Amino acid sequence: MPPAEDYYEILSVPRNATQEEIKRAFRRLAKQYHPDVYKGDKKEAERKFRKIAEAYEVLSDPVKRAQYDRFGHVGPEQSVDFGPEGFRRTREAFEEFFGPSAFEEIFNLFFGEGRRARPASRAQRGEDLEYRVRLTLEDAAFGTTLRASLPRYAACSRCGGSGLTPGTGLRTCPTCRGTGRIEYRQFSMFGTFVNVRTCPECGGVGEVPESPCPGCKGSGRTRERAEVTLAIPAGVEDGARLVFPGQGNAGVAGGPPGDLHVVVEIQPHPLFARQGRDLWVEVPVHYATLVLGGRIRVPTLEGEAELEVPEGTEPDGVLVLRGRGLPGPQGRGDLKVRLRVVIPKRLGREERRLLQAFTERLPPPGPPHRPQF
Ligand SMILES: [Zn+2]
Ligand SMILES: [Zn+2]
Repeated sequence: MPPAEDYYEILSVPRNATQEEIKRAFRRLAKQYHPDVYKGDKKEAERKFRKIAEAYEVLSDPVKRAQYDRFGHVGPEQSVDFGPEGFRRTREAFEEFFGPSAFEEIFNLFFGEGRRARPASRAQRGEDLEYRVRLTLEDAAFGTTLRASLPRYAACSRCGGSGLTPGTGLRTCPTCRGTGRIEYRQFSMFGTFVNVRTCPECGGVGEVPESPCPGCKGSGRTRERAEVTLAIPAGVEDGARLVFPGQGNAGVAGGPPGDLHVVVEIQPHPLFARQGRDLWVEVPVHYATLVLGGRIRVPTLEGEAELEVPEGTEPDGVLVLRGRGLPGPQGRGDLKVRLRVVIPKRLGREERRLLQAFTERLPPPGPPHRPQF
């Protein structure tokens, strides 16, 4: 493995150089090896310039610089590329000194014209948004209307979403000269690769606004808090994803809007447990109610209902209220009522006497038997 190159040495700056010193060194050297100025071999100029740009690209980025200081290289392949951020920074530092379009000239000189590709449209569909709602079991069962205030992008009111100052149009992107692509070389220990990257200036379109709308900086959309009304249908299930078309972010530069996805979470109900479309509830009853039968009151999603307990009901018996569960495609489920016998913990003298007298009059409970599961 060849020894890692010393970026500090390439820029002739000390290891503790400030960002300002690094920038100054880059400009000075870039000027020195500018092809219009450099008297020697053009290949040599290209090689030098490439190294200077690479060193500046790393040392001007605090994150990459820290990584380089620590590991002696950046990234697993010891490679550097002109990512959109680094590209912009390098270009800015260059143009501050040499004037606009100087970077483009030198870039094309060294790295060649970008490959011509069919430019995409400037307009892009807006992003989908996801919104989570917590519903009560009742709202989920019967449906509801929610009003929500969501942050999202809306079409810019100044330019109507085009991103252009009214009366102006588009011009060829100066960075990629309309190709939408930038060729760059990647230096790694395996050799030099020529890669093509989407132009960071125009996003691959090849055109940029002549005069971006000041209201939205050319994107065609601005942030807003939107008041939306969401109709939640009856019978929605926990975890369901409802899609509201066109209610997501506005598109970029007049593109269509994205969708709003509403993910439903159903809050646990204080009384009812869910099992598919069926609901379960436990109702305490006295022993005598099971023995004698009677009417008890049970809660339902629509308020209280009366339920007939038949005479001689077993203590773990389940009574069913048909059609009182959750709605679904096959109709409503059932409400299942489990009767739980309450054993009185403290009996008065008189109650104890009555219960004893009662038990003495009962026939024996019967022999033990093998349980059935
Ligand atoms: Zn605008
Ligand atoms: Zn471009």
